Amino acid sequence: MPPQKVVLRFGADIADQPVIYKLVKDYDLVINILKANVNPQKEGTMVLDITGEKIAEGIEYLRRVGVRVQSLTEEIIQNEDKCVSCGACTAICPTGALYLERPSMEVYFDSDRCVVCHLCVKTCPVRAMEVHF
Ligand code: SF4
Ligand code: SF4
Repeated sequence: MPPQKVVLRFGADIADQPVIYKLVKDYDLVINILKANVNPQKEGTMVLDITGEKIAEGIEYLRRVGVRVQSLTEEIIQNEDKCVSCGACTAICPTGALYLERPSMEVYFDSDRCVVCHLCVKTCPVRAMEVHF
Protein backbone atom coordinates (compact mmCIF):
# COMPACT_ATOMS: atom_id res chain seq x y z
CA MET A 1 0.00 0.00 0.00
CA PRO A 2 1.40 3.47 -0.86
CA PRO A 3 2.38 5.81 2.04
CA GLN A 4 -0.50 7.86 3.37
CA LYS A 5 -0.46 11.38 4.75
CA VAL A 6 -3.27 11.78 7.27
CA VAL A 7 -4.48 14.30 9.81
CA LEU A 8 -5.72 13.01 13.19
CA ARG A 9 -8.08 15.00 15.41
CA PHE A 10 -8.81 13.77 18.90
CA GLY A 11 -10.38 14.91 22.16
CA ALA A 12 -9.00 15.15 25.69
CA ASP A 13 -10.06 11.55 26.43
CA ILE A 14 -7.66 10.25 23.74
CA ALA A 15 -4.73 12.62 24.38
CA ASP A 16 -3.26 10.38 27.12
CA GLN A 17 -3.60 7.12 25.20
CA PRO A 18 -0.57 5.56 23.44
CA VAL A 19 -2.21 5.42 20.01
CA ILE A 20 0.99 6.00 18.01
CA TYR A 21 2.78 3.27 19.96
CA LYS A 22 -0.12 0.90 19.17
CA LEU A 23 0.10 1.73 15.45
CA VAL A 24 3.79 0.80 15.47
CA LYS A 25 3.57 -2.25 17.73
CA ASP A 26 0.25 -3.85 16.75
CA TYR A 27 0.05 -2.85 13.07
CA ASP A 28 3.75 -2.78 12.16
CA LEU A 29 3.51 0.74 10.71
CA VAL A 30 6.29 3.27 10.26
CA ILE A 31 5.07 6.64 11.56
CA ASN A 32 6.62 9.99 10.75
CA ILE A 33 5.04 12.79 12.80
CA LEU A 34 5.08 15.90 10.60
CA LYS A 35 3.15 18.17 12.96
CA ALA A 36 1.58 17.81 16.41
CA ASN A 37 -0.39 20.21 18.52
CA VAL A 38 -2.31 19.74 21.78
CA ASN A 39 -4.19 22.80 23.02
CA PRO A 40 -4.73 23.66 26.74
CA GLN A 41 -8.05 21.76 26.67
CA LYS A 42 -5.97 18.72 25.60
CA GLU A 43 -7.62 18.52 22.19
CA GLY A 44 -5.06 17.43 19.67
CA THR A 45 -4.21 17.57 15.99
CA MET A 46 -1.46 15.52 14.40
CA VAL A 47 -0.25 15.19 10.83
CA LEU A 48 1.37 11.84 10.05
CA ASP A 49 3.09 10.09 7.18
CA ILE A 50 2.23 6.38 7.54
CA THR A 51 3.96 3.54 5.72
CA GLY A 52 3.25 -0.19 5.96
CA GLU A 53 1.07 -3.05 4.83
CA LYS A 54 -1.60 -2.63 7.52
CA ILE A 55 -2.50 1.05 7.10
CA ALA A 56 -6.20 0.29 6.63
CA GLU A 57 -6.31 -1.80 9.82
CA GLY A 58 -4.34 0.84 11.76
CA ILE A 59 -6.67 3.63 10.67
CA GLU A 60 -9.68 1.50 11.50
CA TYR A 61 -8.20 1.05 15.01
CA LEU A 62 -7.82 4.85 15.38
CA ARG A 63 -11.44 5.37 14.38
CA ARG A 64 -12.57 2.67 16.81
CA VAL A 65 -10.98 4.50 19.74
CA GLY A 66 -12.54 7.82 18.68
CA VAL A 67 -9.84 9.55 16.62
CA ARG A 68 -11.11 11.44 13.56
CA VAL A 69 -8.88 10.57 10.59
CA GLN A 70 -8.74 12.46 7.31
CA SER A 71 -6.51 11.66 4.33
CA LEU A 72 -4.53 14.65 3.06
CA THR A 73 -3.15 13.34 -0.17
CA GLU A 74 -5.93 11.58 -2.02
CA GLU A 75 -9.59 10.89 -1.81
CA ILE A 76 -11.76 8.16 -3.26
CA ILE A 77 -14.91 9.06 -5.15
CA GLN A 78 -17.75 6.79 -6.24
CA ASN A 79 -18.85 7.71 -9.75
CA GLU A 80 -22.56 7.04 -9.37
CA ASP A 81 -23.15 7.26 -13.13
CA LYS A 82 -20.81 4.31 -13.69
CA CYS A 83 -21.68 2.14 -10.65
CA VAL A 84 -23.94 -0.80 -11.44
CA SER A 85 -24.30 -1.89 -7.77
CA CYS A 86 -22.73 -5.28 -8.45
CA GLY A 87 -21.56 -5.43 -4.81
CA ALA A 88 -18.00 -6.63 -5.56
CA CYS A 89 -16.44 -3.71 -3.68
CA THR A 90 -18.54 -4.21 -0.55
CA ALA A 91 -16.93 -7.62 -0.02
CA ILE A 92 -13.38 -6.26 0.02
CA CYS A 93 -13.77 -2.82 1.64
CA PRO A 94 -12.06 -3.23 5.05
CA THR A 95 -13.97 -0.43 6.79
CA GLY A 96 -17.55 -0.81 5.56
CA ALA A 97 -17.30 2.47 3.62
CA LEU A 98 -19.01 0.70 0.73
CA TYR A 99 -22.23 -1.03 1.67
CA LEU A 100 -25.30 -2.56 0.15
CA GLU A 101 -28.59 -1.03 1.15
CA ARG A 102 -31.66 -3.27 1.33
CA PRO A 103 -34.23 -3.63 -0.11
CA SER A 104 -33.09 -1.33 -2.94
CA MET A 105 -29.83 -3.40 -3.30
CA GLU A 106 -27.96 -0.26 -4.27
CA VAL A 107 -24.34 0.23 -3.23
CA TYR A 108 -23.57 3.43 -1.31
CA PHE A 109 -20.28 5.05 -0.34
CA ASP A 110 -19.59 6.68 3.06
CA SER A 111 -16.45 8.79 2.47
CA ASP A 112 -16.00 9.40 6.22
CA ARG A 113 -15.17 5.73 6.69
CA CYS A 114 -12.85 5.44 3.68
CA VAL A 115 -9.14 4.97 4.48
CA VAL A 116 -8.02 5.30 0.84
CA CYS A 117 -6.63 1.76 0.65
CA HIS A 118 -7.43 1.53 -3.11
CA LEU A 119 -8.81 -2.03 -2.88
CA CYS A 120 -12.15 -1.03 -4.41
CA VAL A 121 -10.43 0.87 -7.22
CA LYS A 122 -8.66 -2.33 -8.29
CA THR A 123 -11.76 -4.50 -7.81
CA CYS A 124 -14.51 -2.49 -9.51
CA PRO A 125 -15.22 -4.03 -12.94
CA VAL A 126 -16.55 -0.77 -14.43
CA ARG A 127 -13.97 1.59 -12.83
CA ALA A 128 -16.61 3.44 -10.84
CA MET A 129 -14.29 4.02 -7.85
CA GLU A 130 -11.91 6.85 -8.71
CA VAL A 131 -8.85 8.34 -7.02
CA HIS A 132 -8.83 12.14 -6.89
CA PHE A 133 -5.86 14.29 -5.81
S1 SF4 B 1 -17.61 -2.80 -7.63
FE1 SF4 B 1 -17.97 -0.88 -8.79
S2 SF4 B 1 -19.86 -1.24 -9.93
FE2 SF4 B 1 -19.73 -2.79 -8.32
S3 SF4 B 1 -20.88 -1.89 -6.60
FE3 SF4 B 1 -18.75 -1.37 -6.29
S4 SF4 B 1 -18.50 0.65 -7.26
FE4 SF4 B 1 -20.41 -0.20 -8.02
S1 SF4 C 1 -10.51 2.87 -0.79
FE1 SF4 C 1 -12.34 1.67 -1.25
S2 SF4 C 1 -12.00 -0.31 -0.27
FE2 SF4 C 1 -10.58 1.15 0.65
S3 SF4 C 1 -11.64 1.94 2.43
FE3 SF4 C 1 -12.08 3.36 0.76
S4 SF4 C 1 -14.00 2.64 -0.11
FE4 SF4 C 1 -13.20 0.96 1.15
